[in-house]
Amino acid sequence: GSLNAALNFGAGPAKLPREVLLKAQDELLSYKNMGMSIMEMSHRSKEYAQINTNAQDLVRELLNVPDNYKILFLQGGGTGAFAAVAMNLMSRTGVADYCVTGTWSLKAAKEAAKYGTVNYAFPVAKKPGIIPDPSTWNLSPNASYVYYCANETVDGVEYHYIPETNGVPLISDMSSSIMTREIDISKFGVILAGAQKNIGPAGVTVLIVRDDLIGNAMKICPSIFDFKNVDANQSIHNTPATFSVYVMNLVFEWIKKNGGVREMENQALRKSQHLYDTMKNSGGFYSCPINENCRSRMNVPFRVGGDGGDEALEKQFLVETERLNMHQLKGHRSVGGIRASLYNAVTYEEVDALVRFMHQFQKDHS
Ligand code: PLP
Repeated sequence: GSLNAALNFGAGPAKLPREVLLKAQDELLSYKNMGMSIMEMSHRSKEYAQINTNAQDLVRELLNVPDNYKILFLQGGGTGAFAAVAMNLMSRTGVADYCVTGTWSLKAAKEAAKYGTVNYAFPVAKKPGIIPDPSTWNLSPNASYVYYCANETVDGVEYHYIPETNGVPLISDMSSSIMTREIDISKFGVILAGAQKNIGPAGVTVLIVRDDLIGNAMKICPSIFDFKNVDANQSIHNTPATFSVYVMNLVFEWIKKNGGVREMENQALRKSQHLYDTMKNSGGFYSCPINENCRSRMNVPFRVGGDGGDEALEKQFLVETERLNMHQLKGHRSVGGIRASLYNAVTYEEVDALVRFMHQFQKDHS
């Protein structure tokens, strides 16, 4: 295919801004005219130190992170951070509350159960698509923390509010929604986010940690996951995913240049609303199984050909979109149907191209 011209609706790893890729391409063989790629340089070099510091400073600036929070870069992905959170924070009381609203929060709860007692704040729904009202949640009096996933990538479920926990530290997985909406960081104990959806390539996970929660890791916690150790070493305790951090830093600069998180939020609303409106006005031909009050602005799952979906028609939908250079629209294998992911690098025009196709497809098949 032609150079990076695909309309990429993938859920992750996902589309990156074209400008970022061009810049990385430009510097690939010789970073700052040094005759070496940044990939080929020591993580102890002053060049890498500058990238590492700059990336942390930009997280602080873009998300307005207060001084009493540390910004850490880990490896091990979102999944590694599920374990890291439990091993760093659960030691205080041995109990944590988990709000399970889909695939990723369930995985996090199961991972945490290896390190302590996990209390489910509400029963796991048979079919995802709802978030029970917080007034009905069953939170434990002695929880070390309350955990939730801000945006369930697989299911297309997103919280449109920050839950209230009466002083208990709140932990949020923002892997698929970080830097897509302005948030009050002071409401959180820890935010974790794999980079590979909205802010960079796979390989680096960003954690924003309130400093009073640092220093409680269990003895069994690997040193690379111990927040105290990672922080003391400015996230260079061992060899980091240097190239991933480098590209992530370019993405942060791109976000800053393009109106910051506020503008990413505006675009996210516009793009997702365009798709949800298309479904609403399709007379049932397209349908979204998710409750209106928790529909995701990032991952939009839908069925084609009436409620429950017509699998043959959905297959045809995917064949025809591929032909039009629209890629990675297949729903997650556990959910089926179609899923369009609309991360920061996806433009409104690209979403509009998909919408125009949806109108045509409906005409052709009903
Ligand atoms: N949390 C969310 C919301 C995700 O979407 C994902 C991955 O897709 C993960 C966690 C797991 O991340 P990783 O694959 O980096 O372990």
